[in-house]
Amino acid sequence: MQEFRELADKLNRENDLTREEFLSMISMRGDLAKEDRDYLYGLAREKADSVYGKDIYLRGLIEFTNFCRNNCLYCGLRRDNRNVNRYRLTKEQILECADRGYDLNFRTIVLQGGEDLHYSDAEICEIVSGIKELHPDCAVTLSIGEKSRKSYEEYFRAGADRYLLRHETANEEHYGRLHPSELSMKNRMQCLYDLKEIGYQVGAGFMVGSPYQTEDCYADDFAFLHELQPEMIGIGPFIPHHETPFKDEKKGTLEDTLFFLAVLRLSFPDALLPATTALGTIHPLGREMGIQAGANVIMPNLSPVSVRKDYLLYDGKICTGDEAAECRHCMELRMEKIGYHVVTARGDHARFVEGRLH
Ligand code: SAH
Ligand code: SF4
Repeated sequence: MQEFRELADKLNRENDLTREEFLSMISMRGDLAKEDRDYLYGLAREKADSVYGKDIYLRGLIEFTNFCRNNCLYCGLRRDNRNVNRYRLTKEQILECADRGYDLNFRTIVLQGGEDLHYSDAEICEIVSGIKELHPDCAVTLSIGEKSRKSYEEYFRAGADRYLLRHETANEEHYGRLHPSELSMKNRMQCLYDLKEIGYQVGAGFMVGSPYQTEDCYADDFAFLHELQPEMIGIGPFIPHHETPFKDEKKGTLEDTLFFLAVLRLSFPDALLPATTALGTIHPLGREMGIQAGANVIMPNLSPVSVRKDYLLYDGKICTGDEAAECRHCMELRMEKIGYHVVTARGDHARFVEGRLH
């Protein structure tokens, strides 16, 4: 399709489109010939190669608590789900996972969890500084939801380098349909701006194919991302969880996720873009295809195997039975097979050196 390729070329050249052009481009995504899709992925991959070459960065994910005070309608960890075996890891367990990660050549540790007030800010700081003391060459990323600016500042002082907080959707009406009324898009976005100002490398992002999502929602997402300029952007397909109000909703598709990954790469050439576990869950080669469509980060699991089956944001999550070492080696082999190399490096954003803005 001529028009599609022209829009893709423009995006490739200018990293942005008008809202009208963007809407027109994404409205064509359902009817594209394979050659047109491959054309888009090719441009995105070339762009990623020009910034990061064939290097793939690893992030070791420690899912340290599945308690959550929130009730997001899409998520299996929502507080109203009584059928979750809730767990918390101790500081010692978390440090042990981080050590194992370090030995497996991870140089970024991501601490993710539900919003669990059981951990005080002081405890979070102790965990962060504990990892940094043992492994000063490791980056620590937090993904523990919406907190006060003061809390974010304390974690940063304790050594946290990065923060993942997907904005989920930049469309207010859509936000209201995915979340209960006590959560607001305004607050979530404020958190992201606070994190940026404090000096974190910040990750925003959204689910692809979430209930009630329209093309306008995607246009709002891209407009917001252009404004925020996050260092990392995490997207993955929405996948229903059987104990949530969205249990009968359709999941996001592989094609749409790859499409938006490629569009993100062209829009944000030096962003760190993960090929997510959710993408690997909807297709056995989803993560490989994600890399081939412009992603450059993989986030294998470092959580103890004994708790993995209890951290289910969505149904069918892969790798819940594998030891950390297996996941690590599996990813390395998978990447080599498609011509990419997992590297031992923190993998900071180009604007950052040793974790600090320069
Ligand atoms: N509690 C923290 C971090 C854990 S949730 C937070 O909410 O930020 C991490 C991400 O998982 C969320 O941002 C959301 O985008 C994603 N997620 C949750 N439920 C999902 C589902 N059913 N399908 C796909 N992704 C989901
Ligand atoms: Fe809690 Fe995060 Fe799940 Fe929302 S998405 S219910 S905040 S774990």
